[in-house]
Amino acid sequence: MRIRAAVTDTPGGPFVIRAVDLEAPRPHEVLVRITAAGMCHTDLSMQAIWPRRLTPMVFGHEGAGVVEAVGAEVTGLAPGDHVCLTFNSCGLCEQCAAGHPAYCHSQRTLNTSGRRGDGTTPLSRDGALVHGEFFGQSSFATFAVAHERNAIRVPADLPAVVAAPLGCGVQTGAGTVFNRLRPESGGSLVVIGAGGVGLSALMAAIVLGCDPVIVIEPVASRRALATELGAKAALDPSAADDLVTTVLDLTGGGAHHIVDTTSRPEMLRQAVSALRPRGDLALVGIGTTVAFDVMSLLSKGIRVHGVIEGDADPARFIPALVDLYQRGLFPLDRLIATFPFENIGDAVAGMRDGTAIKPVLTFG
Ligand SMILES: [Zn+2]
Ligand SMILES: [Zn+2]
Repeated sequence: MRIRAAVTDTPGGPFVIRAVDLEAPRPHEVLVRITAAGMCHTDLSMQAIWPRRLTPMVFGHEGAGVVEAVGAEVTGLAPGDHVCLTFNSCGLCEQCAAGHPAYCHSQRTLNTSGRRGDGTTPLSRDGALVHGEFFGQSSFATFAVAHERNAIRVPADLPAVVAAPLGCGVQTGAGTVFNRLRPESGGSLVVIGAGGVGLSALMAAIVLGCDPVIVIEPVASRRALATELGAKAALDPSAADDLVTTVLDLTGGGAHHIVDTTSRPEMLRQAVSALRPRGDLALVGIGTTVAFDVMSLLSKGIRVHGVIEGDADPARFIPALVDLYQRGLFPLDRLIATFPFENIGDAVAGMRDGTAIKPVLTFG
């Protein structure tokens, strides 16, 4: 079938919307009519470093929509179901079997190879191959073919623009708190970086009764939103005289947990100092190399966690987040800025300049 997709023809972009062809779903796949698609920093950072040999390429990994057709072996989904598309996993390896599909042995092949696990792609243009299956979906498009494992059914009355970011950014932030840190009620939690991931971590900490929850963020409007969402303090890292001392004071001797979304070395070193003994530091931002003072880590018993996709099992975690949203406990709609699909360039600009916390594309 003919669809419209935001195609990246050259490494670094831009996204150009054009007609491409999409195959019918294979036995374990579903065809989804996309009604909303979130934009995540990973779309832009991967586009920037994407190899030329894997172009043209269609990105997009926070799709939401309606199932139009299912493959012959699909049992859990039917046409008409509303779904949230998330990352893909094999379902068979040691990590998948243990309920940690974010660490699937086939994670890279199934999510960022530009192809299915078997090397094929459902996309083409006039007979020429177009790369896709980004996070098992490539949802910057009017339709996507996903695997049944990464299409999670959601209630039909859940707004699509809310369902979309559950698949990656919201799941990443909230899952880091719910699934990995598992703070006790009354424990203190600091979030560094109040973007979509950081504010999702903040909302999760509020749900679990963390007190105080503190945000460190340079953009004033994001600090204001963090406070409205329940942060006791929102600190400007450029203004605070001594960030570490301020956090130690506010937490009565150091934070129990810190979630860092920035991967900035100077922030991470301060984070170690701002933790209390046996505190947890969760790293969720894409980064390179950071040097830590080993003695400060071991003398305080600091635990450092690397967390991807919130260490979530989406089939169970996304419905749990939907439930919290519907009960008014997880107001993620406050983070969303919508853009018509045709204006995908504006969504990119809003994400880059920080005015859009979580851009979500809509399809008329
Ligand atoms: Zn696996
Ligand atoms: Zn993402």
